[in-house]
Amino acid sequence: VAPARGLARDLRRIVGARLSITPVDREACSHDAWPRNLIAVARGAPPARLADVVVWPETEAEVAALLRYASRRRVPVVPFGAGSGVCGAAVPVRGGIVLDMKRMKRMTALSANDHWASFQTGTLGQPLEDALSSRGFTLGHFPSSIYCSTLGGWLATRSAGQCSSRYGKIEDMVLGLRAISGAGERLRTDVERQPDLGALLLGSEGTLGVIVEARLRIRPAPEARLMRGYRFRDVASGCAAMRRVMQLGLRPAVLRLYDPLDTLLQSSGHGHGFRRLGALLGPGARARAASILVGGAAGIGRALHLAVGRAGCLLVAGFEGPSERAAAEAALGHAELSAAGGKDLGCEPGERWLAHRYDVSYQQSRVFLAGAFVDTMEVATTWDRLTDLYESVRRAIAERAFVMAHLSHAYAEGCSIYFTFVASLLDGERRYDELWSAALSTALRSHGCLSHHHGVGLLKLRWMAEEHGAATRLVRAAKRVLDPAGIMNPGKLVA
Ligand SMILES: Cc1cc2nc3c(=O)[nH]c(=O)nc-3n(C[C@H](O)[C@H](O)[C@H](O)COP(=O)(O)OP(=O)(O)OC[C@H]3O[C@@H](n4cnc5c(N)ncnc54)[C@H](O)[C@@H]3O)c2cc1C
Repeated sequence: VAPARGLARDLRRIVGARLSITPVDREACSHDAWPRNLIAVARGAPPARLADVVVWPETEAEVAALLRYASRRRVPVVPFGAGSGVCGAAVPVRGGIVLDMKRMKRMTALSANDHWASFQTGTLGQPLEDALSSRGFTLGHFPSSIYCSTLGGWLATRSAGQCSSRYGKIEDMVLGLRAISGAGERLRTDVERQPDLGALLLGSEGTLGVIVEARLRIRPAPEARLMRGYRFRDVASGCAAMRRVMQLGLRPAVLRLYDPLDTLLQSSGHGHGFRRLGALLGPGARARAASILVGGAAGIGRALHLAVGRAGCLLVAGFEGPSERAAAEAALGHAELSAAGGKDLGCEPGERWLAHRYDVSYQQSRVFLAGAFVDTMEVATTWDRLTDLYESVRRAIAERAFVMAHLSHAYAEGCSIYFTFVASLLDGERRYDELWSAALSTALRSHGCLSHHHGVGLLKLRWMAEEHGAATRLVRAAKRVLDPAGIMNPGKLVA
């Protein structure tokens, strides 16, 4: 506490009273939603290293002054959005200052004529979208965490929303950035100028500086949205249909294919249907649930096994935009999906998905109460390797966890696979680490990229060298230039 008090005294000269050294604030801003941390908390482990001070800057000038100070004193700094990251990227492993950006939440400009808007990066997702929709626009970025994530977090992790097949990932929406380097210098990037240095900051996970503002492409809010469901025989035939739709040049807002277990859970309830999983495991029996989960897929009961066998694969498709164009695209999509073997299930599955699209990821506590944990892995590859990647990862972890998956974020060249693992809490972090190790090593061997949109954080750090080879030297070189004192989110991205 003594060094924290000294630090706080200095920082007050920059931000006045907008800082805290209370344990509750330091703890709240010293973790994100990484399930491994939750497992540690569940077994009563003492908190990992906390930030020494939490600071709430309000202006770009304050951020610059804070970073100049921290750089001179060599105090670590971690930018903090809303802490919804799922890989431990925002954990201040060496203490220091956490810059909670959420007071920088203004829309600073909008050009209705040229279809762009600028926002400060502490803006939360839903208020950002509300500000645009009240003016007849949309960003088109709808992550499941839209209520609890910020623009800065999206940019720093290269986030993807549920409609990325139509609107792209966040990096596709950026026209320009304003940032403060780790040395406290102001940086401006602009896609129209050569070279565009913004690419360096996108996905940098707070290791090079703080992104303070972004100019983003915006689109007219859609007049119509047409949702539909289809059933495919298996993952391979559904995959082939998705590829045909994307390569035809159609741009569905939603194109998601659920594997049989995920289909079963989807069709039995809302969101991921984890309540249904609890019911399938038997009423209220924590020990029974845990023992089944210890056995992973091998322990699935006969009834569940048969039900999964009959489920087929649900595909949800949605088209949006100006009414006539959306209807025309939906008709073309329908023809293509039907010709590829999709059985038309009507509008209901698509409408249901839309109504519950943000429920899906908030079921962790239910699973925890059943004595298990849930985590997700989002890898991606080209179409020719997709089913191999899907099968290999499932095989690699089937003995350790329930595994289900859906394919979403489809593009002309390939697609992402979003695996959901549910496994017992009994072995704590050991089982968690074994599971991830098996899953990521297998994904790499199957030519998957390890992060489609959740980022690297602490979770995937160990695989960075294997994935990028000599290119990790470039990341280190950028860090030496932009953050010569090495204060920005130390211990992340490249070890
Ligand atoms: C329920 C749930 C659903 C989710 N669904 C999705 C989804 O659909 N799509 C998706 O992409 N992700 C999803 N995520 C993951 C998460 O929401 C994203 O990674 C999001 O981008 C993190 O934003 P955040 O503001 O919470 O960032 P944080 O977790 O606070 O930080 C993430 C990283 O960004 C850095 N950072 C934050 N702000 C800045 C800044 N201004 N400048 C520089 N660096 C900064 C931090 O230092 C850290 O390294 C989900 C998470 C949860 C818990």
